[in-house]
Amino acid sequence: MNRPLFRRTKIIATLGPATENEAALERIIQAGTDVVRLNMAHAKHEWVRTVIRRIRAVSAKVGKEVAIMMDIKGPEIRTGDVAAPFELKAGEVFDFIVAPHADRTENEVRSVSVNYTDIVKDVAIGDTVLVDSGLIRLEVLEKNERRLRCRVLVPGKLGSRRHINLPGVRVNLPSFTEKDRSYTLVGIEEGIDYVALSFVREGRDIELLADFLRDHRSRARIIAKIEDQQAITNLDEIVRASHGLMVARGDLGIECPYEDLPILQRRAVQTCLAHGRPVIIATHMLETMIENPIPTRAEITDIANAVFEEADCIMLSGETTVGKYPVECVQVFDKVARRTESAPGAGFASALALNSDKLKVLRSAVVMADQLPAKGIVVFTRQGFMAQGLAALRPRFSPIFAITNNIETQRQLALLRSVDAMFLPFASHPEETVLNTLRLLRESGRANVGDKFVIVSDILASNNQLVDSIQLRTVN
Ligand code: PEP
Repeated sequence: MNRPLFRRTKIIATLGPATENEAALERIIQAGTDVVRLNMAHAKHEWVRTVIRRIRAVSAKVGKEVAIMMDIKGPEIRTGDVAAPFELKAGEVFDFIVAPHADRTENEVRSVSVNYTDIVKDVAIGDTVLVDSGLIRLEVLEKNERRLRCRVLVPGKLGSRRHINLPGVRVNLPSFTEKDRSYTLVGIEEGIDYVALSFVREGRDIELLADFLRDHRSRARIIAKIEDQQAITNLDEIVRASHGLMVARGDLGIECPYEDLPILQRRAVQTCLAHGRPVIIATHMLETMIENPIPTRAEITDIANAVFEEADCIMLSGETTVGKYPVECVQVFDKVARRTESAPGAGFASALALNSDKLKVLRSAVVMADQLPAKGIVVFTRQGFMAQGLAALRPRFSPIFAITNNIETQRQLALLRSVDAMFLPFASHPEETVLNTLRLLRESGRANVGDKFVIVSDILASNNQLVDSIQLRTVN
């Protein structure tokens, strides 16, 4: 089977020791990475500045604009440092200490510190504490203002700064913490395109971050990471409040019964499509490739499922931060996505409510392009909204060539399904911009003489008024 020229599903790769050097970064971008994610869990400000500048330099060298997504941790709870990793044994009594100077050897019980003092207020006796992505399970036996005393139910090795999950517990940490603010400020200064906020619980969490970005004159867009039961309860308002959603399956699969995960994933995708928002499927997509050069059959099918659901992005985490085969992982994503896209997708986008004339015009363009079929849909967009509207309608055959005169918009559009964003200064007359675009498409190898394009643009009507139009143009 021939390799299709165009991949609709976008690839997000998380940067880490395996990929942060210039050569590796160049290889993963060449292999098809569209968005680079920076995880703030263990990052230092200086690292953030250095790698953002490096990503921009490598993108310029490769000739491909990628989006940069800063992933801030929100109300995340972590254990403190341990001198050396140690085994927690089944049945062992173990303390989580919240007071900085508490006696750690009280009653000979082993312990670790926790970065959140009020954990002792939020959890109840009998609650479950999960450590390190749910690998270690403990039950709360008793508590006082200095510590939680637990029994180990499922044993495991405890290292430094491991993530703690408290399934079903309403954690009273702020949604956008002081630490998040300081990282976001660095990101704003360095020109990030997206901020992904972890453990979003309600629409208001997104509004706080949006206010912060506005106050600092940032155009960065917000991705809401849904990771717990509360986010599922408030899914609709979270999707409305944000610019896009990440189905963070790592935590979601711990905080909710794991057998619910496929149903929650599908519901999240459908909700995003109904509101015209992009959606990212994240975590464990190629987990075994952290160690192995080829994927399992189940992983291939999981990727294909996300592509079939017509998600905008699929994401790599540990696979590209610490894995042995980061470039191969991007190649597997690319290959499986292209092949799966050759079959019809789930078609959830038909549920999108067309509540504006603009969206109805865009739908007509998509229907026309699919029926011709056209070589592509061309849209002119300053802020990216027209391109996002088209992408949300999920054209079956035509790529969306988004022409923008704004480099930030071009980068942000890298995250949207089916969108190939190109930078072009707009001429004073719309017709001139159309002709310049057709030339750009031909010169960049995206079009040949005789190809048909559906063009969504403004045209100049009487009284110098700009009106929406759909045109069919042939390249000559
Ligand atoms: C997840 O939990 O799936 C996720 C993407 O979040 P993080 O990597 O920040 O834990």
